Amino acid sequence: MAVNRTVDAIIVGGGGSGLAAAVSAAEQGCSVLLLEKQPQLGGTTGIAVGSFTANRTAMQQAAGIEDSLEDHAEDAGEFAPDSIEDRNNVALRRWFLSHTAETLDWLRGMGLAFHGPNPEPPNRVPRMHNVVPNAKAYIARLQARLLQLGGEIRCQAAVKELLREDGRVVGVRAWIGDHEEVLRAEHGVVLACGDYANSQELIAEYKGDRFAQIDGINPFAAGDGHRLAQAAGAQLLNMDVTYGPELRFVPPEGKLFFSQLLPASGPIAWLMGRLLPWAPQFVVNAFIRRLLVTWQHPENALFDDGAILLNVKGKRFCDERQWPEREIGIAAQPSKLAYLLLDERLTERYSAWPHFISTAPKIAYAYVDDYLKLRPDIACAGTLQQIADRRRFPMERLQTAVREAGLSGDRWVLLGPCRAYFTTTEGGAAIDQSLRVLDAAGTPISGLFAVGQNGLGGQILWGHGLHIGWALTSGRLVGKTLAGIKSTA
Ligand SMILES: Cc1cc2nc3c(=O)[nH]c(=O)nc-3n(C[C@H](O)[C@H](O)[C@H](O)COP(=O)(O)OP(=O)(O)OC[C@H]3O[C@@H](n4cnc5c(N)ncnc54)[C@H](O)[C@@H]3O)c2cc1C
Repeated sequence: MAVNRTVDAIIVGGGGSGLAAAVSAAEQGCSVLLLEKQPQLGGTTGIAVGSFTANRTAMQQAAGIEDSLEDHAEDAGEFAPDSIEDRNNVALRRWFLSHTAETLDWLRGMGLAFHGPNPEPPNRVPRMHNVVPNAKAYIARLQARLLQLGGEIRCQAAVKELLREDGRVVGVRAWIGDHEEVLRAEHGVVLACGDYANSQELIAEYKGDRFAQIDGINPFAAGDGHRLAQAAGAQLLNMDVTYGPELRFVPPEGKLFFSQLLPASGPIAWLMGRLLPWAPQFVVNAFIRRLLVTWQHPENALFDDGAILLNVKGKRFCDERQWPEREIGIAAQPSKLAYLLLDERLTERYSAWPHFISTAPKIAYAYVDDYLKLRPDIACAGTLQQIADRRRFPMERLQTAVREAGLSGDRWVLLGPCRAYFTTTEGGAAIDQSLRVLDAAGTPISGLFAVGQNGLGGQILWGHGLHIGWALTSGRLVGKTLAGIKSTA
């Protein structure tokens, strides 16, 4: 087998966790090759909001907030329902949380700026640090740092197989552009391929066929890393646990999220980072409200209060109060799309506190008018006839739907299209606190590491800011592990 290239460490995946791993390993003197399947870096990290939840941080201290690891470890268990939380790897999540403040210092040391800490109940104190302007900043900054450190990045490089010698993982076989290469790693291969939210196969296998038609928000979240780990004998944990399915409005057309409106690096991003902490709260809220009307999901309370869903033909198709049947139902509709209809009573109700369409709790709330103003592409108001004309619904069918649902009035609001999505998945390779991948017996597979969503190790990371926190922390720490292995080799 002809080897095309040999380095100290190969990192598979150029999202947040892979870039953090590559930078950290390179900082400690390892030669690093990062392979990214897509034409550009970023992964799910690159389309995220960018919240990073951490305890005992310098920013908390500067704001006079007292926090402790024990409190954070306890609060982190309050987000998922008990049936899910009971499956958490308690020791691993506590260990992760104990390293979050150092990771934040590390990122700020690279020039990344954060707003916050912001409250996110049921966290008892503000712990959510929001990178400015959004998560693309992580990618831009880490990429620049990696190149500065002499790390090598290759895009359109899809890893297809892990290479093993005497049970040890020693490299990868990858398709790079239009040809295959064999790449060797002296001290370790790190799987950082993200989640499988858009893998029909893995979702059907572990969660059930009825969920298979529901898409992942990131269409490229295919679970390659989970398959690679599995083929090497890894134990996979919590593979049926998903974040979602949730209903979300489709993002503005032509722009992958709000992110492209603002620079993620360069002088303007730098200036925003410096100015945002001094901006009045209403400016910050206006900024965040924009985020709220893109990917955020409409509150379930809307359906409990009587809002109905229509498919692209104007037909009502499910009991809107039933989760996850509602989401499964949407995925079975033409084009997998649905619209949310509010009558006059609901429109008034969802126009002021405490009834909002979407929220980042205690930070900002978006009401009907926010959608009409900020997302005219997905929100319209008018008579039932105007609504029918706007979306080409047959008027008779629309009238039947509203009559059967008991809705009425002269002014109506239609929001959508929305889709049912898995935001991310919580299943991952079993790992230890050196980020080594474990087999079914709990024994480390020599030479193989996993980070981010690929190497969740049984943790439940619900709530905002823990997934990115884990991706960047596990990446930073695996870099140190690799350097340690190199120094003793
Ligand atoms: C809309 C949205 C908003 C979110 N906002 C937040 C937030 O604010 N805070 C938070 O904590 N979490 C958030 N999350 C979740 C969080 O962003 C992710 O869980 C986290 O960023 C995942 O990082 P990762 O490095 O594990 O994976 P990714 O960032 O997905 O990186 C994986 C990379 O590996 C590459 N890859 C895959 N297979 C291969 C292969 N075979 N060969 C080579 N490369 C491969 C992929 O192309 C990808 O670039 C959000 C998620 C979504 C969808």
